[in-house]
Order: sequence, then structure tokens, then C-alpha cells
Amino acid sequence: MRPATHALIGGAATAALAPSLGWPASALFGLASVFIDVDHYLDFLYYNGGKIWSLRKAYLFHLRLTCHHHRKDFLVLNVLHTTEAFILILLLALWSGSLWLQAIWAGMIFHYLCDLSMMFRRRILHVRAHSLLEYWIRRRRLAQAGLSPDNPYLDTLKDLQAGAGGPGGNPSLIALSTPSPGAAALPAKTSGHIDSVIV
Ligand SMILES: [Zn+2]
Repeated sequence: MRPATHALIGGAATAALAPSLGWPASALFGLASVFIDVDHYLDFLYYNGGKIWSLRKAYLFHLRLTCHHHRKDFLVLNVLHTTEAFILILLLALWSGSLWLQAIWAGMIFHYLCDLSMMFRRRILHVRAHSLLEYWIRRRRLAQAGLSPDNPYLDTLKDLQAGAGGPGGNPSLIALSTPSPGAAALPAKTSGHIDSVIV
């Protein structure tokens, strides 16, 4: 699900919770329900080797990545969206007795459930590993078949670089190697289609 959609739904839930939970805890709930997606940004940094820090380019990268949902080697790990991360935050919240941590945990779960419902409707639940253990197992299986879940990410980087600067490249596409001023333009299709669900 895209960040704007999460912000909209999270904002509505925050407003609904505020009377009973109070504003600080409700605000933390809302912030967690949006900023859990920071792990997508970390993915982008990891795959571009820490060379590109632009938030806009990270967003466009993930939009373009959705073109590869159909591939056999497409497997996403978003560390903050894993069972292990949810258990860890929950244990910390219960151990500390902190209402704020509990609100953060609830915001993360809320976000995750929104993601799940959208992915379920799109029939793409399988493209994300929902736990670190699942990712490890599935990555090993892919490796045994000679595949790597890194490749869709690396191909996406190549797609975008080619689109920005290659022969016949569309200058409105993301420019990964040079700063690109102006409003964000959606990348054009190169393979598959851009999905409305970012995972
Ligand atoms: Zn998410």
C-alpha cells in the first residue's frame, strides 16, 4: 500500500482513538502506522550501496519494483513487517508497561493488517516473507533453484538507470545518477505493470 493511503487511513484511526487514548499515544499510533515503512527506504539504500539517499527516488524505485511481482525470484523482506519485529516490540511494550510503546506496536500492527488486506485482494500475499525465518527458508530454496531474490531489486535499479540515461531513455523517469529537480514523475513500464501495492 502506498504511503499516502497509509497516512489517510492512519490519520482517521488516530482521530478515532484520540478521545479514549489521549493525543500523545494516538499520535504515536498514527506515526508508527506510517513510518514502519522506513524499512523500504533501508532496502533502497542497501541495494544502491548507500550512494543515493533521495526519498523521492526511493519511492519511485519501489513503484518500479512492483513491475516484477510476477517473477519466481520476487521475494521481499521488510524487517519491520516481520513476526519477529512485532513480537520484539510487543515484549518491550509489555515489559516496560509503556502506553507509548504499546501505541507504537498497535500502529505497526494496524499498518500490517492494512497491507495484508490489500495484498490478499491482489493475490500477492506470497511476495513478502512475513517472518525472518520464512525469508531464510525461502531464500535457501530459491538459491537451490539457481535464483536470488536480490535480482528483481538489482534489475529495477538497472531499469531506472536505463530509463533515465540510456539510449531512448525517458528523461522524465527517475535519474539515479544525477539530481532530478521538479515533481515526481511515475516511471514508465518496462516489464509487467506498476501495481498500486508497494510491498
Ligand atoms: Zn507496509
